[in-house]
Amino acid sequence: MSKVAIFAGHNHDTWELTGGKGIFTNLDADGEYEEFDSNYEIAKDTVKLLREHSNITVLFPQEGGKRKMSLSERVRYCNYHKVDTAIFIHSNAGSATAKGAAGFYWYNSEEGKHLANLYKEEMEAFRYPLWSNGTYPCTPGTWSEFYVVKETNMPVLLTESFFFTNPKELKQYLLDPEQLDNLSYVHYALVCRYFGVQPKSEKVETATSEPKNKEEGLSVSAEKELQKEIDELKHEMKRLFEQKQDKPSTSDQPSEWAKDVWKQQVMQGYFDGSNPKMPLTREQAAEVLDRFAEKIREYEINPLKNRVAELEGRVEQSK
Ligand SMILES: [Zn+2]
Repeated sequence: MSKVAIFAGHNHDTWELTGGKGIFTNLDADGEYEEFDSNYEIAKDTVKLLREHSNITVLFPQEGGKRKMSLSERVRYCNYHKVDTAIFIHSNAGSATAKGAAGFYWYNSEEGKHLANLYKEEMEAFRYPLWSNGTYPCTPGTWSEFYVVKETNMPVLLTESFFFTNPKELKQYLLDPEQLDNLSYVHYALVCRYFGVQPKSEKVETATSEPKNKEEGLSVSAEKELQKEIDELKHEMKRLFEQKQDKPSTSDQPSEWAKDVWKQQVMQGYFDGSNPKMPLTREQAAEVLDRFAEKIREYEINPLKNRVAELEGRVEQSK
């Protein structure tokens, strides 16, 4: 089984907190572009496409977009989970005229270079412009000594798809949902090819033709998928709550009966994969529920969304 971790560069509040990794622009209705937003959009759809392959395990710890991860956490996550590779998705910043895309790899990693070449080839298939011929070695002692590329124990790839500081590229690629879909396909196809798996044709993916649930606008398959997750999560939480508290085990391996559901929920990002046999505290349960709530929001179940907003509004008023 091949295992990959997908990361969206930066965090949902990086731009707000630092004023970096984003740009004020009149090209977007919001008046600004945040790099994390397009990174996450690409990452999310890359993960979705990869998960259609049962022989690839896809880890996406930022699922839902809310979890903040430092660079060292990202490295620790990859090393702990012993992934075969990891992809760090970014768009670039530079001058207003700098343009093109490039894949970055650790300078002496042949496998890393191979990954970067696959990225370059997939970008070329869409006739996208390349920066520095499309691949770039991260070199010690230079600006390109990227921490996540250097410190991970496995060959990884960091992609910089276009320059958001270039208004032309920002408008043409990074603010265009169709182009972001193409970029997801690029990342999906390169991972498939790296693992020796045949990627599905980009033409196959037509979410719009799916029948919709009338009231919510939720697609039938999304609804089924969500129901399955709800069932599995309920099952998992029931087991966890029923577990006796007096005999905590520090074993690193889940019980035989829990193996599949544990793996499934770790993959979904509800648990980080550590201490499967330790009891769940209330605060940990709160965190799990929060991650689940985020997932539901992602499926755009409107009544719940509204309810959350209403409650948040009440909390705000009571301050
Ligand atoms: Zn970035």
